[in-house]
Amino acid sequence: MACAACGSRGLFHHWWKMRESCPNCNLVFTRSEGYWIGAVAVNTMMSGFLLLITVVVSFLVSLPDLRWQPILIPSALVSVFVPLFLDPISRTFWTSMVAIGRPPEKPSDP
Ligand SMILES: [Zn+2]
Repeated sequence: MACAACGSRGLFHHWWKMRESCPNCNLVFTRSEGYWIGAVAVNTMMSGFLLLITVVVSFLVSLPDLRWQPILIPSALVSVFVPLFLDPISRTFWTSMVAIGRPPEKPSDP
């Protein structure tokens, strides 16, 4: 996960704790109130897609003897752990999407 403005790494203190700004170019990540709701939406879409794949694959693997455990257990694990795993990825992706749509201001030359 790299900065959308300069490409440097080290944007996170640890997996779920993002720095307030880029350590290299000082790009501030939280640019407005409610900024991270977009990252939550990205995380929800990616997690939902992976959950759908899990349900379909579990369903197909358990055929022809359909039982609920081989479908429910992997789906529950994906539902809990994938959003946690994808959190820093979705934050970085959202930051880059916003930076593309609304580029950060560059400091003016003296
Ligand atoms: Zn940067």
